[in-house]
Amino acid sequence: MDLRQILFISTEPLFAMLFWGNAIALLFLLLYRRQSRFAKERQLSVLLIMARLCHAFYYFVAFGRGTLPDWLSASAGVTVLFIGYYFEAQAILRVIKEPSKFGDRLLRAMLAAAVIFFYAVELSAGTGGLRVTTASLGVVALMAFPVIRMFFSHDSGAFTKSVALLYGVFLLQLLGRAWLGLQDHSFNILTTNVLQSLTFLTLLLQHIIALPAYSLIIKDSADEALLLMATTDRLTGATNRHAFLDAATAIHQSSRIFQHSLSVLFIDIDHFKQVNDQYGHAFGDIVLTRLATLIDKCLRTSDLSCRYGGEEFIALLSHAKGPAAQIVAQRILDEVRQARFEEHPDFAFTVSIGVFSGVPSAHQTFDAAVSLADGAMYQAKRAGRNQVVFCDEAVLNP
Ligand code: GH3
Ligand code: MG
Ligand code: MG
Repeated sequence: MDLRQILFISTEPLFAMLFWGNAIALLFLLLYRRQSRFAKERQLSVLLIMARLCHAFYYFVAFGRGTLPDWLSASAGVTVLFIGYYFEAQAILRVIKEPSKFGDRLLRAMLAAAVIFFYAVELSAGTGGLRVTTASLGVVALMAFPVIRMFFSHDSGAFTKSVALLYGVFLLQLLGRAWLGLQDHSFNILTTNVLQSLTFLTLLLQHIIALPAYSLIIKDSADEALLLMATTDRLTGATNRHAFLDAATAIHQSSRIFQHSLSVLFIDIDHFKQVNDQYGHAFGDIVLTRLATLIDKCLRTSDLSCRYGGEEFIALLSHAKGPAAQIVAQRILDEVRQARFEEHPDFAFTVSIGVFSGVPSAHQTFDAAVSLADGAMYQAKRAGRNQVVFCDEAVLNP
């Protein structure tokens, strides 16, 4: 047995495997797409389906090189291959969450350049080794940008980086093939040499690794979307009541055990019904969204806030005593008063804020602290609105 032969795999069986690999991946992706619920997930699977379809076509006609007519197995095959990599490149940019107008334009330009260059050389210089050169360079042109972004993206974990590395090795091998094509005019995709064998072997490995990698990444982003939907308020983007109560209860409990102070701010828009009546519900929604942003702006990153109900928001300031809560509440009041809207430049609104500050007593629940802040908010309403009222801590710790 000649062990060196392990590096000389003829390309035909590799093409057959690549054809089947792509065809089966295509089948899985089609099934996956049927049950994906999110638009982003569906868009990504369409790109991957198109890529796999083009690749399956290419390896089928490449396998038939010599039997099928040359225009089909070479010219049409390479064009479809370029289109396949165009879709794959787009999919990569979406997988690493970096789709951009620049990226899309660049890829379209690269696709056009690759096709024009391929046919220009094909028509002027004939086929031979140059065909390997132009096809290889076209794929490198399409894939270089997304693969580099994939490797250096902040979002990429070790697994995504290793997929990028494998792509990188493949692109370097393609550059080697492009150079060989220039040197040797008899070089074609059926030639068996070490570089050729390794290139398609790398591609096979990359297909084996990339499909589960993409599935995991798509699943991750679907999970992220679900989590976001379950924990945030659709309209304002603020944390929803349910998620807030989970986190706030834990903080309240730890404050009670370790006897730290905390502050709860109950924030309610003044005369919001009139805002809706006068300017319309859609504008009311804009006001609500702005308030969520303003509250966030006034809090520390360690504080929590949520949309508690219609036009009511709550902020929880951990480790914050009365004076600190007073400063934050006053800041919110000021920011709200100064807020102006493009839609109605003369419109302004105010909020009333009730505050509970103190160390939770032994039997106090978080709900009780919220009720106290709510009571103080009603006092603020009765006192004329647009102000902060503190609840009497003595009520809590008699
Ligand atoms: P007060 O100063 O006493 O708080 O008066 P108010 O009008 O703000 O209070 P009220 O509780 O009477 O009205 C709250 C209004 O908030 C009624 C409701 O239509 C409006 N609202 C609740 N949720 C939404 C929403 O998601 N979008 C819009 N635009 N309005 C909402
Ligand atoms: Mg209210
Ligand atoms: Mg109100």
